[in-house]
Amino acid sequence: MELANPVFLYKGIEWNQKNGIQDDPVFYMIFTLDDLCLSYLDNFKYFDYIKNCFPAFKLIAFTIANFKNNELLLESNIFKKWFQKHQNWVEIAVHSYDHTYPPDGDRNNEEYWIKKALNNLKPFLPKQYGYRSPGWQTTNQTIPILKKLRFSYIAFEDKINYLKEKRIEIKIINSHLYDQNSIQKMYEVLKNHYSGTKRRTNDLPRPLSARNW
Ligand SMILES: [Zn+2]
Repeated sequence: MELANPVFLYKGIEWNQKNGIQDDPVFYMIFTLDDLCLSYLDNFKYFDYIKNCFPAFKLIAFTIANFKNNELLLESNIFKKWFQKHQNWVEIAVHSYDHTYPPDGDRNNEEYWIKKALNNLKPFLPKQYGYRSPGWQTTNQTIPILKKLRFSYIAFEDKINYLKEKRIEIKIINSHLYDQNSIQKMYEVLKNHYSGTKRRTNDLPRPLSARNW
């Protein structure tokens, strides 16, 4: 995936190294979202708005394969259509199969549930795919299981651990799809950055109006 304006590429570090840019916290920013599923999909309009204001915006969306055993994305035409429209800037990652209690790690077979989620999200995943556990709960088995299933990274709290590179990324801003305020915080971060930089004045956002939001 290549964008014309890769300021907020989630792989910002690689991009910076290639282009000889020194440490810049905003260049390294990774935006993530939890709980992508049909129930909250309507709220994605707020991300569409952010994307409209900041064309370089990209997002990792931790996605529930079959929320409450009632929303199997693999069979949802609504989701498939949404995915087609967004796959250039939204990276899908695994966030459990059903997201019901108890979380994967407290079930008898953690690997079975992670694998089930992975298999059901496979058509939507990039080559290098990641995982965030439901409720952010992990066990001492989680990382070995993820490695076995060829996951590239795990997100926990506000960090991403790249399993192959043994590198931890800490510049993460997370949100939840059901929580509009958490999404608006991302907008504020971007707006503050762009209003403080001269080099990308073309991308300055329009003021946020209640009608749009
Ligand atoms: Zn969740």
